[in-house]
Amino acid sequence: MKKDFELKEKTAINFLKKYNKNAYVCFSGGKDSLVALDLAIKGGIDNVVFCDTTMEFQETLDYIRRVEEFYDIRVESVTAPVPFFELVYKIGVPSRRLRWCCKVYKFSPLAVFARENKVKSYITGLRSEENVRRKHYSKNDENHLIDSKQINPILDWSSQDIWDYIMRNNLPVNPLYNLGFKRIGCWPCPFKSKVDWSLIKKFFPDKSKLLDKTLRSILKNCEGVGIKNLDDFIKNFKWTAYSRPQNSELQGKIEFIDGTSLIHLENTSDLKKVEKIIPILSKEYEVIRNSIMIKSKLRKQSLKILVEKALNCVGCGTCVAFCKSLRIERNHLVVDSQNCTSCLRCIKTSTMRGACIMRNFSPYRIEIGTCQNFSVENEIPSLNSRVGLIRTRAKLEDIIEKLEKHAEIKKFTQYVSIKNGKLSATAYKSRGYVEIKIYPNNNDLEITMNYFRGIIT
Ligand code: SF4
Ligand code: SF4
Repeated sequence: MKKDFELKEKTAINFLKKYNKNAYVCFSGGKDSLVALDLAIKGGIDNVVFCDTTMEFQETLDYIRRVEEFYDIRVESVTAPVPFFELVYKIGVPSRRLRWCCKVYKFSPLAVFARENKVKSYITGLRSEENVRRKHYSKNDENHLIDSKQINPILDWSSQDIWDYIMRNNLPVNPLYNLGFKRIGCWPCPFKSKVDWSLIKKFFPDKSKLLDKTLRSILKNCEGVGIKNLDDFIKNFKWTAYSRPQNSELQGKIEFIDGTSLIHLENTSDLKKVEKIIPILSKEYEVIRNSIMIKSKLRKQSLKILVEKALNCVGCGTCVAFCKSLRIERNHLVVDSQNCTSCLRCIKTSTMRGACIMRNFSPYRIEIGTCQNFSVENEIPSLNSRVGLIRTRAKLEDIIEKLEKHAEIKKFTQYVSIKNGKLSATAYKSRGYVEIKIYPNNNDLEITMNYFRGIIT
């Protein structure tokens, strides 16, 4: 038995020696990462990083200092730009089905740290026994959000192996284990067991009350939306598996006119948010009142994702993990247009579900509509031009239905006349299209055209 154990230890140390160049141990303060750290130190690796998720127990933070003293090492600390409870009110409480927190508070800070410190591998205390998904992990693995290897030297160790190793080597353990906790780490973790929740209630009543208050405040309007009774929902930890349905709010429109792409938004402050990241897709653009005109025809889906990312962004910082050309400024994503190579990694849904934490998880997602039917004949009308022409594949009857609330409509055999305080227009069928000639009542054709498109799309 002893021989088996020594073999396991030796194998892990020899394995780690292969990765000791620019490797960092991810130390969480738990028993598994303590063993990984001890083995790594024996393998010649004493770089250590701790992810401060802003939801740590004070006992864990104090324990990190003890570990530093015990090994005579320095444990670097990384964190996300926004505190947990600030994001909880915007995105929702993390649950087993809404697991946004690890990306924001673990993967992203580690990715940034790896980039800044040229970290080649992260050593973890991951064990396959812990959950089914981890059975598919390998000892030399990857995380698609982090550009460095993930080395899992104790993947095949059992919980008993871990405790045996700690005892034999007389390692200092997190005092939370002495209170009975099975899991260390973020205290409001939805993966905690009922026993751990009862321990939190007993030993950390303030935390328990804070979570209760937050859940009540966030979920108070959700009774009837997958929640029958809020008290029961909170008391019996049903929130840990809850995913609130998404509501979308449409705040603008994308359209493609001949060779250009246009983004129209109701609000100019939203336009500024989009402008901050539009160079990801194109550096050739112009802002015209409530619209951004890009001088090329872009892919509809890429444009939609980019605009929705900009409009939904709460500055969680996850995007910064993808690229050093991205940064967070006043809670919003900004791109450094000089350095962005338009590789599009940051707007791909294969990199991150929904390409944005908020866009993917938030129950209050902002959307942008798209339409592709329109073409204006006098390409970009000059402000001196008096007539605009829209050509569309939409049905004349549908257009009339949309216009009826906004203008006086008169139908004639060959055409339809449209009039209101802002414009006069005629619409008629022509070679499979509907063409609409627009005559503004003021001198601003562009504004009138945008106003008209806004009604009929
Ligand atoms: S765009 Fe989305 S994922 Fe990126 S920082 Fe903003 S909220 Fe986070
Ligand atoms: S990931 Fe690519 S597209 Fe996004 S900011 Fe960086 S260089 Fe630009």
